[in-house]
Amino acid sequence: LCLLTSGLPDVRERTLIAVKPDGVQRRLVGQIIHRFEQRGFKLVGLKMVQVSEDLLSQHYRELRAKPFYPSLQHYMTSGPVVVMVWEGPNVVQTSRKMVGHTNPTEAQAGTVRGDFSVHVSRNVVHASDSLEGARREIQLWFQGKDLLNWECCNQGNMMED
Ligand code: UDP
Repeated sequence: LCLLTSGLPDVRERTLIAVKPDGVQRRLVGQIIHRFEQRGFKLVGLKMVQVSEDLLSQHYRELRAKPFYPSLQHYMTSGPVVVMVWEGPNVVQTSRKMVGHTNPTEAQAGTVRGDFSVHVSRNVVHASDSLEGARREIQLWFQGKDLLNWECCNQGNMMED
């Protein structure tokens, strides 16, 4: 409705970002959170999870048949991940840009993958790739009660809603 009436993006748009086990092991959690805070997005949910094979296969349901899935499963269940929900205008598309190309070889410098990784099998971070994907993934990883609607005291300096 907001978009229809004002032409402005939805300031309540949300996406799922996860620091994968390699990112946690390499102590990159803080730097990744910092990038999203610095940009001006709002953290509305955060937890550390030891991912089960079942949860992973739901998360990556489109990839289950891929030849690399067994090694992806091994990697993603090898240690804890830090999973977060971030909120703000156009956050789905913007975070894909901040995260960079799936294959770090193609990722631009300045992106998370372009700055911290060299191989597709250890690319540090996950970001939902569409509005619908974000909605599905947020529901899969979080219960509604664990996502907090909080007022940002500085909101008016970063966006107009
Ligand atoms: N992946 C991999 N080998 C490949 C392609 C993908 O190990 O050849 C892994 C990689 O960790 C990637 C994840 O599978 O991030 C999901 O792949 P997708 O194509 O959904 O990319 P993403 O949305 O993460 O950029």
